[in-house]
Amino acid sequence: MHANPAAMPGQASPHRHDWSRQEVERLLNAPLNDLLFEAQTVHRRHHQPNQVQLSTLLSIKTGACPEDCAYCPQSGHYNTALEREKLLEVERVLEAARTARDKGATRFCMGAAWRSPQDRDLPHVIEMVKGVKALGLETCMTLGMLTESQAHRLADAGLDYYNHNLDTSPEYYGEIITTRTYQDRLETLGHVRDAGINVCAGGIVGMGESRQDRAGLLQQLANLPEHPESVPINLLVKVAGTPLDQVEALDPLELVRTIATARILMPDSQLRLSAGREGMEDGIQALCFFAGANSVFVGEKLLTTPLPETSDDMQLFKRLGIQTETHEETVEASARTAALVEAARQEQRSGQYYDATQARA
Ligand code: SF4
Repeated sequence: MHANPAAMPGQASPHRHDWSRQEVERLLNAPLNDLLFEAQTVHRRHHQPNQVQLSTLLSIKTGACPEDCAYCPQSGHYNTALEREKLLEVERVLEAARTARDKGATRFCMGAAWRSPQDRDLPHVIEMVKGVKALGLETCMTLGMLTESQAHRLADAGLDYYNHNLDTSPEYYGEIITTRTYQDRLETLGHVRDAGINVCAGGIVGMGESRQDRAGLLQQLANLPEHPESVPINLLVKVAGTPLDQVEALDPLELVRTIATARILMPDSQLRLSAGREGMEDGIQALCFFAGANSVFVGEKLLTTPLPETSDDMQLFKRLGIQTETHEETVEASARTAALVEAARQEQRSGQYYDATQARA
């Protein structure tokens, strides 16, 4: 059932979708050693403990976004030094995908700074999906909100993953974004799921939120009708000109706690240590992997913010005895996770999103 040879049949943690806020907070508040021990135990039952998957994210349309996400240098609402770029030519995207593949990435993610894609843009985007897949890479897109029919068109093109983050808790969300609602995000995730595309959904920590808000985000993700196959956890990268550029830095151990709790709540999901690795101490990264992170972004940039040098990453993996996943292993792991998520979907399909706001009351 699992790739981990040490996994014991019958020991797999169940997929729960009914976590209360108190339960999630209890995990997040536990002594760190207890939390890490439990997360690592779950991780070993469900994943290869010494393996990470590598993804690369390319910005295919940069800046001038009509949304007002307070962390984002691409928002047209803020005056940042970012250079805007129109939708890239398909060939430029494929060139970047080839380079990413040659550097060991097995998934190629493409992000556009849109509120939602225009129907006129979709044929270009679809060509990108087909071209990147033909290079032997898994594909992921993040294009903003999707309608039901757009999700189906992307599914028909063979898109493997769609990323749409919940960002933070429902309670803190209004401090970060006003131009789209939490419910809008949940609806897009529902369209993606219903179209048969794997879901990539996570959030950002370090935006001035409380630990309770981090619990709220994790509770929302874990109580979706099916766990996202992929869960990116980002640490805010402060960019001058955005409203969050002066926010107090988060204790990096809070990131470790968030990852460990996510691992316990969503045992089979791939947990991606995403933005914020540049400048992060190796010891903290090592703790994130111990807590259950099993995927990272590599390459020069994560959309518009810098990433560590690929050679530094490889050096760190070597010191930690971590292997990077091959393309075949990534495809196998994706199929396995999708099958588990589908099985859980059949088992307890509720069709309802859990209301974290109610649970907190
Ligand atoms: S996060 Fe995405 S939707 Fe929000 S402003 Fe940035 S590009 Fe636009």
